[in-house]
Amino acid sequence: MNYLKCIECGKEYPNTEVLYTCECGGLLDVIYDYSRIDFTLDDLKGIPLSVWKYRKLLPFEGEATSLQEGGTPLYKCDRLAKKIGIKELYVKHEGMNPTGSFKDRGMTGGVTKALELGMKTLACASTGNTAAAISTYSAKAGVPAVILLPEGKVALGKLGQALIHGAKVISIKGNFDDALRLVKQLCYEEGFYLLNSLNPYRLEGQKTIAFEMVEQMNMRVPDRVLVPMGNAGNITAIHKGFKEFMKVGITEKVPKMIGIQPEGVCPIVKAFRAGTDEIIPEKNPETIATAIRIGNPVNAKKALRAISESEGMAESVTDEEIIEAQKELAQLEGIGVEPASATSIAGLKKLVKNGIIGTDETITCITTGHLLKDPEEVISVSSKSIVVDAAVEDIRRVLYK
Ligand SMILES: *Cc1c(COP(=O)(O)O)cnc(C)c1O
Ligand SMILES: [Zn+2]
Repeated sequence: MNYLKCIECGKEYPNTEVLYTCECGGLLDVIYDYSRIDFTLDDLKGIPLSVWKYRKLLPFEGEATSLQEGGTPLYKCDRLAKKIGIKELYVKHEGMNPTGSFKDRGMTGGVTKALELGMKTLACASTGNTAAAISTYSAKAGVPAVILLPEGKVALGKLGQALIHGAKVISIKGNFDDALRLVKQLCYEEGFYLLNSLNPYRLEGQKTIAFEMVEQMNMRVPDRVLVPMGNAGNITAIHKGFKEFMKVGITEKVPKMIGIQPEGVCPIVKAFRAGTDEIIPEKNPETIATAIRIGNPVNAKKALRAISESEGMAESVTDEEIIEAQKELAQLEGIGVEPASATSIAGLKKLVKNGIIGTDETITCITTGHLLKDPEEVISVSSKSIVVDAAVEDIRRVLYK
């Protein structure tokens, strides 16, 4: 019912093969025969939101390794919308997944596939959230996991998660792109199962973000969806989800996909501006948004296609704009997100200000990870708490200052 297909040369492979890229080096997609998938509105009725609700549109056969991922809230953000100056703003808060990021959607699928294929060890390189998810889901599945991290560049909450759930955590003296190159080699040579977003089965789990969003908007589709981009798997996955809901007849359009990167590392934005799909890797990526500190995004080609097919775009934002957006989301809407997530809000602000996004549009921003992932960043950008003697008059003195 489904198979793998190269996005470059079109070569097809059976879904029983352990494969991450085509012989030609191209990225792989999971392809279905939609004419044989009977999926209707009745498949949605009366079932709570979750990744596995959409099993008919997923390529997994075996018993799911699940911690009840998905079903994340879609918040209508009227105060922030007013401040930014648009009609209708929603935030889909993926930080509300079991380990606090959307990576869980990909990992529940990826680990389920790993077991189907009989793989004995899971592996990934990570800026933090994939590590948290792989460690957690490997514990749930009872299968060991190996993680490569860029030393000193992983937010504290994520590191703690990777460690407590029992994965083998190895910090390398290099950046994420080095870690990914090394883990790929290990997977080929040691037979580990690679669970980075190069693995097309991870993206299949993540496409359910689109399915849920449509349901949460009463079967409407927003005009635009803004997504933080690192390796750019997620924007690709969400776009694929919207396309598939259209193919099976649930919806009638696909939103414009808008990818946002930090100015300190934005190779996809640069390629978009230059009108090419050739990425120039950035050797020294730097940003406060460590989750997307990625100089050589593996899914760039897929993402640039999703962007151009949907008539979307790519934009960059500064670290200052990211921090400001993070605080506004926290203080106007009560939504706590890590810096990478706030890039979608910061990007929206910039594009409305520049007149590119119209004030009458309906927008959804994806916030990819939870505030508590990176407590050190939060404390460093917030004002300090006030220390006083334990007496009510001392408290009163500072209250109204
Ligand atoms: C992984 C991650 C991203 C980037 O997702 P890609 O699919 O690599 O583009 C963005 N934000 C957070 C919090 C993440 O964990
Ligand atoms: Zn190929």
